[in-house]
Amino acid sequence: MATRFKSLTWKQTNLVVFTALFFAIAIFVVELALMVISTRDGLSANQRELLDSVEQPAANAVWALDDNLARQTLEGVLKVEHVGASVIELDDGSLFVSVSNDQHSYSPFFNELSTELFGDLREISRPLYRPLYFEGSRQQQLIGTLTIFYDTQELANTLFGQLKVSFFATLARALLLTLVLSIVFHRFLTQPIASISEAIDRIEPESPDENLLPVSESHKDDELGLVTTKLNQILLQFGQTQSKLRKMATRDPLSGLPNRTLLLETIAVTIQRARVHRRSFALLFIDLDRFKNVNDSLGHAIGDQFLARIARLLERIVGDKGTVARLGGDEFVILADEINSADMAADFVDKLLIQLNNPIQLGEHSIHPAASVGISLYPEDGHSAEDLIRHADIAMYAAKASGSNQWAFFKHQMTERAAVRLRTEASLHDALKNDEFLLHFQPKLDLNTGRLMGCEALIRWQKDGRLISPMSFIPVAEETGIIVPIGRWVLEQSCKTLRHWQKQYNVAIPIAVNVASQQFADASLVPDIKQMALRYQIQPELLEIEITETSLMADVEAAIVKLEQLKNAGFGIAVDDFGTGYSSLSYLRHLPITTMKIDRCFVSDLPNDSAIASTILMLGKQLDLKIVAEGIENDSQLEWLKKSGCPIGQGFYFSPPLSLEEFEQKYIAGNTAAIHDIRG
Ligand code: C2E
Ligand code: MG
Ligand code: MG
Repeated sequence: MATRFKSLTWKQTNLVVFTALFFAIAIFVVELALMVISTRDGLSANQRELLDSVEQPAANAVWALDDNLARQTLEGVLKVEHVGASVIELDDGSLFVSVSNDQHSYSPFFNELSTELFGDLREISRPLYRPLYFEGSRQQQLIGTLTIFYDTQELANTLFGQLKVSFFATLARALLLTLVLSIVFHRFLTQPIASISEAIDRIEPESPDENLLPVSESHKDDELGLVTTKLNQILLQFGQTQSKLRKMATRDPLSGLPNRTLLLETIAVTIQRARVHRRSFALLFIDLDRFKNVNDSLGHAIGDQFLARIARLLERIVGDKGTVARLGGDEFVILADEINSADMAADFVDKLLIQLNNPIQLGEHSIHPAASVGISLYPEDGHSAEDLIRHADIAMYAAKASGSNQWAFFKHQMTERAAVRLRTEASLHDALKNDEFLLHFQPKLDLNTGRLMGCEALIRWQKDGRLISPMSFIPVAEETGIIVPIGRWVLEQSCKTLRHWQKQYNVAIPIAVNVASQQFADASLVPDIKQMALRYQIQPELLEIEITETSLMADVEAAIVKLEQLKNAGFGIAVDDFGTGYSSLSYLRHLPITTMKIDRCFVSDLPNDSAIASTILMLGKQLDLKIVAEGIENDSQLEWLKKSGCPIGQGFYFSPPLSLEEFEQKYIAGNTAAIHDIRG
């Protein structure tokens, strides 16, 4: 249960009031006791004096039986303070004279109290003796008794009257003191504590040292000052730790630049400001080209130094026009809040790339940096930090796809799917540079004897420890044209392999290489192949070019010219995936091809649906072409093909594509003699 807040002033006022009341009452009780004692003492002294003073005249009056004199005397007595009545009795006990004052009436409690306090002093009496001037007998003779009655109630009343005044005076003093103390206490203690509490409320957990507690002049040298100073010291230490932590959480340790977290915050603030002032700004996503090469060839230590140098360079270029951040790896972002148009952004990036291209000297190494830059603009390309970064990132991939040291603006057509494609494309560029491709080989066998007749080279992409199938990257490579250099690599790698087999095992196993349509259309294809064959000293008939039916049909006239050149040079030519395109049979006759491959989809239909396979086999025989069946997976397919006179086949039934080592081990190392015959 939450306790209700009670002010210190309220608490201490209560305390002081009770204490003051307690002491007022205590003082009152003591005062009462003292007054009662002194009143009693005074009274009994007065009584004795009074008796002494009236004894003689009273005795005279009794002796003379002069009741007038006696009355006069007693009336004199009555005038004395607090005397209520007085009586003279004769020695025989009879009343001689009595006088009395009017009696006040008091409450029974008061009666009782006065009796309690002064009961024993209420009545005094003195025996009256025959006056001394009647000498004759030395013996004293009792002639009567004088008795004086005191009005003790009136006495008590007077006493209480005085006490009442003193009580209220004490009480008033106490209350006044309480008030003064409370005010002093409040101003001196409660108020400073309350203002410390308010100051504590103002402390920001994020920056505790920004709102230190106030230490007032008057409390500098007391406990309050001490506590506040100590608290402030803690806040300062806390603030320092906080800023260290914040730095660790928001800075990239390698470059000291803001990291993604801080960048997102900064962009968010910039967006707010830009919205208020209706301004634009640009976000540049920078990815270094070929950074992996630096890392791989010169080591990570140099790679780190390189990144740090790039960070400093970017900071220098940007100056106070924006913020540079590092997102990790070789990715940097520049938030250029002074750039408010596409033209300005393009100018800026042009200059940035020129400055970035200056070689960087690291020890004995000179590195030539280059970068791809994607640009997104606020507000056109996004209203949130995440969107702006993502779009600049996509634009960067578009820039990278168009080659090194390029920049691109984000365009809305660059969708997420396009981004993935662009990313693949950008990595494909690097893949070639980083030597991430390798070849697998699938054997082609004589279906009747099971002898190795050749193999097909099939490309694989080894990326981040995974092997990527050509199905997912060849289409991207074809669309972007990277297929041309990739295809050239495959050709060269196949030539190298042929040469290697020749030298290592003294065997000649034909290799079929897939050539994409764009690569086929490339003017340098034929001279390239010829030159490679020369360089690696390859017999041209060992290299077979596989071209899909579709790419042949794209431009048949041109294809015929090119194929002629290849065929004349002695290279084998296979039509891949035959049957899937729409070849005009009339053209087919003019195509200078050597092999026809029955596409996998027709083989998989065997033996039930064999019409197309039979037609292709028949056509092959008529045109005197070698026929290779692709994708043989089971016995029944094999049996049908054998029975129908298909000479060569490949497929998982025999072997999947194998790595070079596996292929060599399985098909070459132990069988060199058998393979040797193939050449003949
Ligand atoms: P492709 O030229 O028709 O190659 C045959 C594909 O069928 C290979 O797929 C191979 O692994 C697969 N295959 C072989 N036997 C069987 C089987 O019994 N069953 C099944 N289901 N599949 C089988 P891969 O290696 O994934 O290559 C796919 C395609 O990528 C190739 O089809 C080819 O068009 C293309 N490709 C591969 N390497 C290159 C290259 O270096 N350059 C070019 N331009 N394209 C290539
Ligand atoms: Mg093929
Ligand atoms: Mg095929």
